[in-house]
Amino acid sequence: MAKKKEELRKEVKEETGSQEILREAPLQSMSRDVCISCNMSIVNDSSAVRFPCPNCGKHTIIRCSKCRKIVAKYKCPVCGFEGPN
Ligand SMILES: [Zn+2]
Ligand SMILES: [Zn+2]
Repeated sequence: MAKKKEELRKEVKEETGSQEILREAPLQSMSRDVCISCNMSIVNDSSAVRFPCPNCGKHTIIRCSKCRKIVAKYKCPVCGFEGPN
């Protein structure tokens, strides 16, 4: 009885695991190279910076040169930390 239950659990885990990977992939590629404050692409911005969130370190903050100049606020979507300070 106990063995059968474990096998069932394994199958469920594998199915949800692959679904999560498919769901996360497009989100990550979309947010990879845009400024966190103005959503502008930083591909051609040589003065743009990217750094891990100063609070949780889990999210990579990307800021374009314009937002650095005007000290635009940013907010970490993971922990809610607001910068630039
Ligand atoms: Zn910006
Ligand atoms: Zn954070």
